[in-house]
Amino acid sequence: MMRKYQIATIAGDGIGPEVTQSTIRVLREACGSNVLDFEPFEGGAAHYRKTGDVLPKDTYAACRDMDAVLHGAAGLPDVTYPDGTEVGNDFILRLRVGLDLYANVRPIKLLPGVASPLRGFDGGGIDYVIVRENTEGLYASRGAGIVLRDELAFDTLLVTRAGTERIARFAFELARKRHGAPRDGQARVTVCDKANILRSYAFFRAVCTDVHRQYIDVAIDYAYIDAMTVYLVKRPDFYDVIVAENLFGDIISDLGGATVGGMGIAPSGEIGDTHALFQGAHGSAPDIAGQDVASPLATILSGVMMLRWLGDRHEDERLRQAADAIDAATGRVLAERRAVPRDLGGQASCSEVTDAICQALAAA
Ligand code: ATP
Repeated sequence: MMRKYQIATIAGDGIGPEVTQSTIRVLREACGSNVLDFEPFEGGAAHYRKTGDVLPKDTYAACRDMDAVLHGAAGLPDVTYPDGTEVGNDFILRLRVGLDLYANVRPIKLLPGVASPLRGFDGGGIDYVIVRENTEGLYASRGAGIVLRDELAFDTLLVTRAGTERIARFAFELARKRHGAPRDGQARVTVCDKANILRSYAFFRAVCTDVHRQYIDVAIDYAYIDAMTVYLVKRPDFYDVIVAENLFGDIISDLGGATVGGMGIAPSGEIGDTHALFQGAHGSAPDIAGQDVASPLATILSGVMMLRWLGDRHEDERLRQAADAIDAATGRVLAERRAVPRDLGGQASCSEVTDAICQALAAA
């Protein structure tokens, strides 16, 4: 019997519902209607406003027990805790810690037909993956920072050997499976830190260097975060896999996304040893929510990552083929400018982009 997969599906806030609906349509078109069960669950900032609960128990249990998680977006700027931080972020932060989703994988790839703001780069010229440590770093102390007498504040940066070893291994394993940097074909892991200033980052670098001893077929390279912001603009083709602490990974992911078309096209997968969650790298974009103008591409491409993760985990060739088919269909739609979303300079609505990808899939 053919295996079916249960996908815990949380549409969430802002543009979340539109882009999730698009992704479900595209994934069903590619896999057939009988392979993936998208089970809807509540969660996020609007849900918190209604119920006081950002991540309901049954949603958490579904994310833990089902085969994978598909998420739209969480967060609304006016739904905050008394300390001023946004409630919506807790939805994802609790899942990251609870399900131990330690690797936040952010592919940065320039697709044919998409104009990069960097002159001289076109389709295929930028193709690297940021592996952001997702459970430690500066964000580990969220909710536990201290504000004293309204005069000073602390948050703590956490780096452990075990946490750094596993994210480094993840990065080297990924580099082994890829085809190297566009510039020279070299499999390379760049460790991005601020080792010249803080001990915690020097430790992160040292542990990555230790792990590299088991991966001497992959080149290791180092860059300070400030220099990295320059390199990702000047020579993005040099990069293959970049491993970074949580905060730094967050920042360079947005920078990288901007070089390949913006947040509307940047996917992400948050992956642990047994669980994984997939969502676009963007937030809930409340300014454009409910107008059918958001780009669904980031979420659709995150869905492609989900199919590959499930396909590898369960050795299910159907899913890997469906992933390849969606990649190809999306590539055709953009390269031939059949439906280009507004953030990429086109006129197509969220549903028109979705229709065009489904048609390209059906025609393949
Ligand atoms: P977060 O902090 O949750 O990442 P944010 O408020 O920093 O969220 P986003 O919600 O990602 O930022 O969006 C910033 C802006 O980028 C939006 O206001 C919107 O104009 C644009 N944007 C984001 N995602 C998309 C998308 N999928 N399609 C089109 N435009 C988008």
